[in-house]
Amino acid sequence: MATVEFDDVTKTYPDTTSNAVDHVSFSVERGALCILLGTSGSGKTTLLRMVNRLADPTSGVIRVDGVPTVEQDPIALRRRIGYVIQQVGLFPHLTVEENVRVVPSILGQKASETSSRVDELLALVGLEPAEYRKRYPRQLSGGQQQRVGLARALAADPELLLMDEPFGALDAITRGRLQDELQRIQRDTGKTILFVTHDVEEAFKLGTQVVVLDQGRLMQEGAPVDLLAHPANAFVGKLVGSANVLRQLEYLPASAAQEPGDSPGSQRISTHATLLEALLQLMQSRQSALTLEDGGQSVGQVTLSGISRVMMAARQMADDQAAEEAATDSQASENVPVTPEAV
Ligand code: ADP
Ligand code: MG
Repeated sequence: MATVEFDDVTKTYPDTTSNAVDHVSFSVERGALCILLGTSGSGKTTLLRMVNRLADPTSGVIRVDGVPTVEQDPIALRRRIGYVIQQVGLFPHLTVEENVRVVPSILGQKASETSSRVDELLALVGLEPAEYRKRYPRQLSGGQQQRVGLARALAADPELLLMDEPFGALDAITRGRLQDELQRIQRDTGKTILFVTHDVEEAFKLGTQVVVLDQGRLMQEGAPVDLLAHPANAFVGKLVGSANVLRQLEYLPASAAQEPGDSPGSQRISTHATLLEALLQLMQSRQSALTLEDGGQSVGQVTLSGISRVMMAARQMADDQAAEEAATDSQASENVPVTPEAV
């Protein structure tokens, strides 16, 4: 597990007029799954590649476990950091087992030790070792290749994983499965992960921390629910879809609709449940209210009209932002990627 700090980091490529990364500062906690979210060209890949020194900042400092990257030997640094990209980059003439074994830090081990380690890694990423060990990359589906790529990145047991749109080329179902696997692996291993995506759904599903970038600048950083409930500006609001009722229901906690009072005999729901779970429970139980509880203690209630008020407020906020945007003719909004329309 590692920490990563970005301290006023700027990257300017030669012969370009604007900074690819522009004075970006934020910290990634140990064990976080931090998402870098932004449209194409917003500087996500550049930011990621500076962590393992595939590039260095023009100014500012990146620290991995407190030590500036530029003071660390690139090869030694990359050994401690797993790197997964969309074009998996498996060697076509090597078997799955050999592809995973090429990682330098396990090359020194005895063949018997390496074999059991490879099997362990294949099982970890959801590939039955006996079935897949001897296959060649061309005998695997895209999703399976990406699993092997992940196994290889995990082979040296790195403290930090960098992932650049790793599931971008996969179909929706396969992508969903790999997202589930990644969450499980992260829970089981506690690794710190920096994950690049332009997909808001993916960011919300996976991220414990989301960093929104636009034109190289950091727009907002926080937990997904913070971005949704308190977007820092119209750009973030539009990107994360503050006006999207479904997403609000799915990610906001039931406590967002908390009201005083209690309704004796009603079903109970935890403050940690989502608004969607509260809504479903209300409908299924045909009750007018649920008792909201925190650690077994009743703290109030949730009603249909309470949930509806939260939704209306979100709607209002989005309308206000749209009006503000129209008034200032903010150019940032032009770069917002397509997100599902507000419900
Ligand atoms: P993202 O990963 O968010 O799509 P990138 O980090 O790849 O963004 O690119 C950010 C900006 O830097 C873009 O404008 C891109 O054209 C520019 N850029 C990226 N790599 C280079 C390079 N090697 N030389 C010059 N410009 C580059
Ligand atoms: Mg990129």
